[in-house]
Amino acid sequence: MKEFFSLKDFDLRNKRVLVRVDYNVQMEKGRVLNDSRIRASLPTLRYLCDAGAKIIIVTHLGRPDGKQVEELRTDPLAKRLGELIGTEVRKTGLPIDKAKPEIEGLKSGSILMLENIRFYPEEEKNDREFAKKLAALAEFYVNDAFGVSHRDNSSVSAITEFLPSCAGLLLEKELTTLGKILQNPEKPFYAIIGGAKLETKIPVIENLARIADKILLGGAMIFSFYKAQGLETGQSLVGEKEIPLAKGILDKFKDKIVLPIDVVLDDLTSVDTKSIPKDAAGLDIGIRSIRTFASTLQDAKTVLWNGPMGKFEQKPFDAGTTTLARIISQLSATTIVGGGETVAAIEAAGLSDRFTLVSTGGGATLEFLEGKELPAIAALRKNYLRGA
Ligand code: ADP
Ligand code: MG
Repeated sequence: MKEFFSLKDFDLRNKRVLVRVDYNVQMEKGRVLNDSRIRASLPTLRYLCDAGAKIIIVTHLGRPDGKQVEELRTDPLAKRLGELIGTEVRKTGLPIDKAKPEIEGLKSGSILMLENIRFYPEEEKNDREFAKKLAALAEFYVNDAFGVSHRDNSSVSAITEFLPSCAGLLLEKELTTLGKILQNPEKPFYAIIGGAKLETKIPVIENLARIADKILLGGAMIFSFYKAQGLETGQSLVGEKEIPLAKGILDKFKDKIVLPIDVVLDDLTSVDTKSIPKDAAGLDIGIRSIRTFASTLQDAKTVLWNGPMGKFEQKPFDAGTTTLARIISQLSATTIVGGGETVAAIEAAGLSDRFTLVSTGGGATLEFLEGKELPAIAALRKNYLRGA
């Protein structure tokens, strides 16, 4: 059964289509540092251009908290998008209630970007009146902003009450690929969870443990597990509060959890995880662990990865993460990677086009994998059930 409309269900020729994207990208001195989120929206925008729609783009950038912040204007985003899509993208600085005439002057197949939507304090309150004003600019609404779909904000949630709405191609790809993992993954299915804060990953581990054949762990969080097993962890990062959480996971899912067997210490030596010295910190998983993970993964049909294996920002402690990325990219399986830092590591290794899905959501991906319903997706579904 379909849960929401998709782009291709509609004839959008000459229609004013408001597309909510997530261009909350890294910036430096007024320039876009990483344009992967902009590139991820190109299939939807190209489709709409070819379909002859008049495209109005809405995004947020940074955290202006309802105020106008000069450095957070969307002009550099419009410029970068224009370069990538190969046609001029105009930016209007006009406020939402004054922008209508400029929008009505748009030619079919052309693109106009509005100002940072978080300059308006109403946005993050999911204000209905504000959503109605925004909706009045267009005849149709497309959500292609998976990365903000876990937020109950006007431009992703309330707006669907006022316009026929559908998912963009990126949002649809994220939802179908991640949705299949939770509902009906091809087996064997292995999840790999790393990163630092175990607390934030516990709900994901719990939900995936029901579905996955094995859960391989890495990153700083492994030390809480060793501590829970009564092992010495030296100066490695351990959250005291995390030890009982780790113990709980081990008790419940001990047949599924796979922990690394060796770690790389801050003095660059590798040791067995049973013999970490008191004065050393573990900063990456060791080569023997990587080999064990690689052989486990060989028969994988589905792999989901969130969280780096080590302190990858500091060489050579990126080795575990980068080697694992290479191993996963060579499997013939559905391979999905998510999480802000993990995706950054994969991009740095130049491997992002070798995965089935590099999820554009950080928090949204994690909440989805916890099994939560994302508010903006629920809103799209309601719109669909109403028949728009
Ligand atoms: P993601 O954003 O991909 O979900 P997290 O935010 O959970 O990932 O964690 C990423 C952080 O964890 C990175 O900044 C990395 O440096 C840190 N980290 C991973 N392993 C270690 C370790 N052994 N010691 C210290 N920090 C680590
Ligand atoms: Mg992170």
